[in-house]
Amino acid sequence: MALGVSRQYYKHGAENISFKARVEELSGQNINLCYQCGACSSGCPLSKEMDLLPSKVIRLVQLGRDDPLSSRTIWVCSTCFECEVRCPRGIDIASVMEALRQIMLRRKYSDVKLESIDPEKLRSLPQIALISNLRKLMA
Ligand code: SF4
Ligand code: SF4
Repeated sequence: MALGVSRQYYKHGAENISFKARVEELSGQNINLCYQCGACSSGCPLSKEMDLLPSKVIRLVQLGRDDPLSSRTIWVCSTCFECEVRCPRGIDIASVMEALRQIMLRRKYSDVKLESIDPEKLRSLPQIALISNLRKLMA
């Protein structure tokens, strides 16, 4: 029984390592540098719209957990870089968010579906909002 649990742990561990390595490769960031000070989350102007705070996203990736892939947070992030400016370890968190979006986009998933927006509304939306959304389709 104990051996079974152990095997399960190591199997899961190996998968975790590959997910974390993938995010680090795509973002160019060393996720292990994060010591969970929370400065990124406290400064994020969009944290109220997120289901996972930026610091939690980083922690989950650190643990090799891919939960952030299904979060609203990665699509809400506007790449404003406020978190990077505040991070005492110099982690570019926006690039981590981008890496997570890239993984999802390469799986043919996108949170932004322009065709589902009413054409009337589309005409009245600020251009910057559209450009910002389209940018997220370019990974
Ligand atoms: S880059 Fe994204 S996560 Fe960082 S502060 Fe801006 S919106 Fe928040
Ligand atoms: S500011 Fe940097 S070190 Fe602090 S929790 Fe965020 S990513 Fe981690």
